[in-house]
Amino acid sequence: MALRPTILNPLFAAVDTLTGIGPRIAKLLEKVAGSRLIDLIWHLPNGLIDRRFSPKVGDAPPGRICTLTVDVLAHSPPPTRNSRLPYKVTCGDDTGRITLTFFHAQADYLNQTLPSGETRVISGKVEVYDGKRQMAHPDHVVTESQKEAIQRVEPIYPLTAGLSPKTLVKAVDSAMERLPDVPEWLDAAQIKRDQWPPWKDALTAAHHPETGFELDATSPIRHRLAYDELLSNQLALALVRVKARRLAGRSIQGDGQLRRKAIEALPFTLTGAQSRTLAEIDQDLADATRMLRLLQGDVGSGKTVVALLTMLSAVEAGGQAALMVPTELLAQQHLATLEPLCAACGVSIAFLSGRIKGKAREAVLDNVSSGKTSILVGTHALFQKDVEFHDLLIAVVDEQHRFGVHQRLELAQKRRGVDMLVMTATPIPRTLTLTAYGDMDVSRLDEKPPGRKPVDTRLVNLERLVETISAVQRAIKSGAKVYWICPLVEESETSDLAAAEDRHRHLSQILGEDNVAMVHGRLKGPEKDAAMAAFAGNDNPNGPKVLVATTVIEVGVDVPEATVMIIEHAERFGLAQLHQLRGRIGRGEQASTCLLLYHAPLTETAKARLNTMRDTEDGFVIAEEDLKLRGGGEVLGTRQSGLPEFRLADLAVHGDLLIMARDDTKLILERDPDLKTDRGEALRTLLYLFEQDAAIQTLRSG
Ligand code: ADP
Ligand code: MG
Repeated sequence: MALRPTILNPLFAAVDTLTGIGPRIAKLLEKVAGSRLIDLIWHLPNGLIDRRFSPKVGDAPPGRICTLTVDVLAHSPPPTRNSRLPYKVTCGDDTGRITLTFFHAQADYLNQTLPSGETRVISGKVEVYDGKRQMAHPDHVVTESQKEAIQRVEPIYPLTAGLSPKTLVKAVDSAMERLPDVPEWLDAAQIKRDQWPPWKDALTAAHHPETGFELDATSPIRHRLAYDELLSNQLALALVRVKARRLAGRSIQGDGQLRRKAIEALPFTLTGAQSRTLAEIDQDLADATRMLRLLQGDVGSGKTVVALLTMLSAVEAGGQAALMVPTELLAQQHLATLEPLCAACGVSIAFLSGRIKGKAREAVLDNVSSGKTSILVGTHALFQKDVEFHDLLIAVVDEQHRFGVHQRLELAQKRRGVDMLVMTATPIPRTLTLTAYGDMDVSRLDEKPPGRKPVDTRLVNLERLVETISAVQRAIKSGAKVYWICPLVEESETSDLAAAEDRHRHLSQILGEDNVAMVHGRLKGPEKDAAMAAFAGNDNPNGPKVLVATTVIEVGVDVPEATVMIIEHAERFGLAQLHQLRGRIGRGEQASTCLLLYHAPLTETAKARLNTMRDTEDGFVIAEEDLKLRGGGEVLGTRQSGLPEFRLADLAVHGDLLIMARDDTKLILERDPDLKTDRGEALRTLLYLFEQDAAIQTLRSG
């Protein structure tokens, strides 16, 4: 088994092993950066204060950070009655005077640090108040002998409440002292061409910016650090891929019988994109290596039928297939879609989720292990230990973004040799696809089924709520079904729920109780399904016409009769999320409308987001726009999307570096597949540095 090189071990020590860091500070450091030294090392400054400017007092310009050498002349405490006035200390040199002001000051402390009659070096922003120079709460007060320690460029780090800049700088500096000398893992020619410094120098410079240049994401320093991270990402994915492919797959060649029957039973013909994708999949299946394919297709692009036809190949070849989806609700819906089609071609299909218990569960498990069940649909319960397949050939994972990269990789390793198709409705920009799915082949369903009408999307000020409700009333009178989406409030489920409940009550009063249903994350599975079924159900024309929902309907739900969507506080949602939500409408024959209710005033970014939503329905365009708007290291929403988060790289800026890293990886593995050359050894160090241990385990020992 491979082990982390010992030179890296000090970096993985806990922050409280640094002198002067107790449990309280360690907690704060953990909050802002992480619990280990390596986390502090990756915690780069995003600004600087230049304290090198050191004029005479009489020349100190207002508004500028100055480091001044002054004599302490006099202390004037505020009158005891009025504690809102500051404590003042007058200082000066032979050119002029400056007053230091301290609010809520402790006299003892000030007398100690600024004793009258002595000389001190102070640093802070000089201001003019009442025509006189002053400095409120100097950042530093030291003796002349300590002048050098403060008269320098000070990095500014992202902080958290309770953590002082000084403490953080000290912690980072001590962590940096433990940086080991590492072998160079980058290609010498490349380093020379781009004038990149060695890793250690790059990090040191990044933590000690002399000018704004070291802070710029496009400086050679930041480029090098970002590149290291991206290279580790690409290399890790490539290694996992190599291993996954090495696990022998089986050549699956169906006779097309079942597939033909299913296609005949479909009420439509396949789109060009669907047929093309199926051809790509068939190629993978026929191949003796294992299939690892990502199917990207916007909401409504028709992924389900592709999944079914893929799974039927497994059945034709005498084996089984499984379809895993992230929620109970979706799993049920898939089952409902697939059951009649399976019946039409005589294939047995079963359902499994955490909610199926006792005898019913045993029966399902028996049929799966005996092979009586050919297709199993369900939640992640499908891949629990006690679920044994007779002969599982194909696993399909739907709405992959809900599971995350790690879960997927785990799954890929657990199910040795099973062909995998993962499907995602989150259109991902090309650059991001590489970071999360560099290990997979990609198909794109970039063509919607015919006959879809564009959704008419409008921005509406929340002040027009009353008119909006009247419009909803008119719409349901003319037979429409309406989604009313309530926003996330401050990450708190309870207040989300309260907001949704309020809206539900309000709409029920106006539209009639029977007309309004509600579904939210707190509902138990059966209640949720009942609400959804009532809303979707065509059997009861008197069922609810409006479904008030929190974002639980985000994923996959299909009610073609729903033609109106109201999104309340649309400005609080991310672009990707809005796009997902809107995808619930515009699925049927009727024209659809989406109203984005916003609370004014909008920030520039929120405005740009909502305008994008109004102007396009193309998920891939929206995804690129989303990446641009998020930029600047803001990682909002990445967690939900299952994409990896980077600490040094910012893909809004470093997209080109990612492409370079991908190409570099290809070359590296062609020349040195087991990472055994000197550079290979150095690259292992890189992988450990970025905690890609799992990828290293895939290498044969050596
Ligand atoms: P998603 O990609 O979001 O999972 P679905 O598979 O749920 O999309 O398909 C959305 C709707 O489009 C379904 O009602 C499905 O029956 C329909 N559909 C799928 N393929 C076609 C097609 N080729 N022509 C017409 N309708 C289609
Ligand atoms: Mg779907």
